[in-house]
Amino acid sequence: MKLAKWLLGPLAALGILAGCATSMTDIKGFNMISIEQEKELGNKFAVEIEKQQQPVNDPEVQRYVDKVGKRLLSGARAVEFDYVFKVVKDDSVNAFAIPGGRVYVHTGLLKAADNETELAGVLAHEINHAVARHGTRQMTQEYGYSLVLSLVLGDNPNMLAQLAGQLFGKAGMMSYSREYENQADFLGVETMYKAGYNPNGLTSFFQKLNAMDGGTQSNVARFFSTHPLTSERIQRVQAEIAKLPPQRYLTDETEFKKIKGRLK
Ligand SMILES: [Zn+2]
Repeated sequence: MKLAKWLLGPLAALGILAGCATSMTDIKGFNMISIEQEKELGNKFAVEIEKQQQPVNDPEVQRYVDKVGKRLLSGARAVEFDYVFKVVKDDSVNAFAIPGGRVYVHTGLLKAADNETELAGVLAHEINHAVARHGTRQMTQEYGYSLVLSLVLGDNPNMLAQLAGQLFGKAGMMSYSREYENQADFLGVETMYKAGYNPNGLTSFFQKLNAMDGGTQSNVARFFSTHPLTSERIQRVQAEIAKLPPQRYLTDETEFKKIKGRLK
């Protein structure tokens, strides 16, 4: 009995560690919504979001976010959706992914970022919410399968319009579990590294937001409400980055500066 107890501690610890490592890389978590259904839901949400938040209509800005997004996708674990990246006119610091591989960036976030690597950090985090399909998984948990399915089928247009803005767009109330946030960070670091971006861009941007106003003022509050930036979270990301072998990262910032200039 004594021996068994003595063994249980370390074994349990090993089990927890193994479970943790698996869940961080497991992007195929249980989801009752199919890939095709999620694409359909994303298309419907996008129509509503873009009624509420106006996309920036500048081909150069579009070409640039497409380029950064595409580069990041080369480092993602899976690309099951046709990813779409859009910049929307909104001076608050925010970015969000809706189901089906659609990622939105506010002009306010582009202005707050100091370089392409910081922008890539935020995009890598959002891309991985889509890669691991956190949106449909969380919605199914919160609202139930039948409601999400009714949105997919177009049976509930009022609810669809309401939830699009409430969860992802204007109000941005979608709050992922801590587990999902940690996974998006973990995979975000990996995606950046594989795509040739310095993953420190993610933590440096997080730290900058924290320093700006501690997450209490309106301008960055939305990002904080959907992605709480605790010091524990930042330390966890830094610890992951420290494990990576050194490599040469992208450092050319001429294009980023040009694009930022166009937003003024
Ligand atoms: Zn997040």
